[in-house]
Amino acid sequence: MTDLYLPTGALADRIELTGLTARGYHGVHDFEKAEGQDFIVDIVLHTTVSRAAASDNLAHTISYSDVAGDAMTLITGEPFDLIETLAERIAESALATGALAVDVTVHKPSAPITHTFSDVSVSVRRLGVLLATPKPAADVVVGIGSNLDNPVTQVDIGAGKLARILEYEQMSRTRVTAADVAPGQPTQPNYVNAVMIGKTRLSPLGLLAELQRIEDEQGRTREDHWGPRTLDLDLISYKIAGHEITSDNPDLTLPHPRAHMRTFVMEPWAEVDPWGHLRGKPIR
Ligand code: AMP
Repeated sequence: MTDLYLPTGALADRIELTGLTARGYHGVHDFEKAEGQDFIVDIVLHTTVSRAAASDNLAHTISYSDVAGDAMTLITGEPFDLIETLAERIAESALATGALAVDVTVHKPSAPITHTFSDVSVSVRRLGVLLATPKPAADVVVGIGSNLDNPVTQVDIGAGKLARILEYEQMSRTRVTAADVAPGQPTQPNYVNAVMIGKTRLSPLGLLAELQRIEDEQGRTREDHWGPRTLDLDLISYKIAGHEITSDNPDLTLPHPRAHMRTFVMEPWAEVDPWGHLRGKPIR
């Protein structure tokens, strides 16, 4: 299948498992369900492996052995009439590992076809929640902050650009907060913070790419994770039909891992959305 590009234009990494073979009982004919035949499955997990590569820790990646085990259970388990259904079920189970997207191909080389052929297969690509277009439009909360190069203007310009991306957006008042400096780090100028809520039809990673584009346009550099910044846009929460999307992917962690501890996020959020919830709790 074709490569998978992320909304940032980066090519996703892949973990590929090919030729997983087992006897299954899928098919529309009674003899297929009684006698069974070999099914061969290929799975591509589109993911980001940089964190696991740096840590050399299995907990930071997707275990291909677990994926193979789950697929095996589906190949040898409940018989389906169609390999389309089998491919869909294997894709669903592979996506549950947290992959950004998966490609699954199910081959049925002994299919009952009365002509000479070498293989018949069905391939599906399914996108995980971080790449899927929300239906209906998602409700999002974005934190806006700046402590460099005239922060009030930075927040103003950033909010203007963000308002062009979101629908039905509402912006809180801005507030000034002392910088939260990591131990041993030099002091920093005060921050100007605000929160914007609104709706989007972009996927979570699609929206993050837009936030990063706006940050870049405002001259944001990313050398120092905790350093001062011209403009910082954080995706705090992303909900589809009231259901909060969760992700522990380091490229996009949802809800934002520190937002619930930050008064400069929770106060302005409560101002524009007094009945809002985060992690199942009222934000007020
Ligand atoms: P920061 O310097 O705090 O803006 O962090 C930027 C980095 O955090 C980027 O590499 C993002 O991919 C990553 N990140 C993870 N989760 C989020 C989130 N919820 N909102 C914004 N950036 C995030």
